[in-house]
Amino acid sequence: MTRTADIVIVGGGVTGVSIAFHLAGRGVGKVVVLERKFLAAGGTGRSVGIVRQLYPTPETTQMVRRSLDVFQRFGDTVGGHAGYTGCGVLIGVSPAMRPQLEKTLTLQRSLGVRAEVLEPSDASRVDARIDTTGLGAVLYEPESGYGDPVGVTGGYADAARRRGVVIEQGVEVTEIARARARVTGVVTAAGERIEAPVVVNAGGLWSPAIAALAGVTLPIVIGRHPVFIVERDAGFGAPHIVYLDLAGGSYVKPESGGLTLTGSLTDDETQHPMDPELLGAEVGLNEAEAVLERTSRALPRLADARYRHGYAGAFDITPDWMPILDESPVHGFWIAAGMSGHGFKLAPAVGEMMAALIAGAEPPVSAAPFRFDRFASAGTAGTFASSYLR
Ligand SMILES: Cc1cc2nc3c(=O)[nH]c(=O)nc-3n(C[C@H](O)[C@H](O)[C@H](O)COP(=O)(O)OP(=O)(O)OC[C@H]3O[C@@H](n4cnc5c(N)ncnc54)[C@H](O)[C@@H]3O)c2cc1C
Repeated sequence: MTRTADIVIVGGGVTGVSIAFHLAGRGVGKVVVLERKFLAAGGTGRSVGIVRQLYPTPETTQMVRRSLDVFQRFGDTVGGHAGYTGCGVLIGVSPAMRPQLEKTLTLQRSLGVRAEVLEPSDASRVDARIDTTGLGAVLYEPESGYGDPVGVTGGYADAARRRGVVIEQGVEVTEIARARARVTGVVTAAGERIEAPVVVNAGGLWSPAIAALAGVTLPIVIGRHPVFIVERDAGFGAPHIVYLDLAGGSYVKPESGGLTLTGSLTDDETQHPMDPELLGAEVGLNEAEAVLERTSRALPRLADARYRHGYAGAFDITPDWMPILDESPVHGFWIAAGMSGHGFKLAPAVGEMMAALIAGAEPPVSAAPFRFDRFASAGTAGTFASSYLR
């Protein structure tokens, strides 16, 4: 059987449904989202959901600002529940990182970011439980916090449907059809052909495999990032703030039920390639120990927390830890992937930008830093920390 669409989006994570919502808002014709399992079955469903605003470039700053505006008013502007909690975010940096932090914040303030650099000793007025010993400064972002990636995905999906988008779950794309250097549609595992002049790869952890179906090689590594869950003791008190310890190398995010999610900020995930099918696999206490030690240094009251469990997450990582948002060398085959571990907080702006680019309109933020061909030039190597400060 053969059907037709104007645009097929492969992948029903937060990226794919945000793109679908924004495309439908531009009236570009029939948009179909194909998701091989269920919405948010990939990295989105395993995300920690932190929304920080510290970004090193004007474009990423503008994107996270636009996204934060959406998270804060999600019910009104999209519909549904983003679960956004603006509890504030503290980011600790080493003395050596402080000059760069101050320079970056000057740029960010000019673009509307509300944040202040605190002396380490002053961080106690935000959350007295953070241990700032040895830090050079602490950045305080009062509007930042965390959201619910599954809720945001559901909200965008419902809103996209209301705009006429067709979302099909349990449908895997197994072929991307081309004629010469142009995409002509997709074929599903059930053998159905959907003809379309535009196909968007929003496959997250599977984006390199999906690109390969079109003969395109993505410079993306799927790197393992385990997440550990601990239960705060009964006397812990009010939930702690979101704290990202760039100097010590760990983060903590409060979760409901007295739980805290934590993980590493210094391990180089590119050195730990992972089969995305292992997403969610159980992780034992032995692997958690090094990170829990760092977490306990950053937030000593967590030293008595009880280890509940851990799971394997993974990031789709580009060489500079920034997304690829561009048309590929195969005409009509677009890439929105390589989110490099921070694709939740950027998803609203990514959807907006991709929809503009695909529709041939001016994007709201310059797309130049996200071009597909940028890795051909030197100086594009990065780390997770370089997605905060460079
Ligand atoms: C452990 C962890 C913690 C994170 N923490 C944060 C955070 O604190 N803040 C933040 O901003 N970001 C965070 N991220 C990153 C963020 O969650 C991701 O970048 C984002 O959710 C990726 O969404 P996506 O839609 O691009 O990809 P995915 O969610 O991976 O979606 C891709 C979808 O494509 C589907 N698919 C794959 N192959 C096919 C096919 N052939 N046909 C059809 N469908 C297919 C998959 O089933 C999947 O649902 C974290 C990620 C992880 C894993």
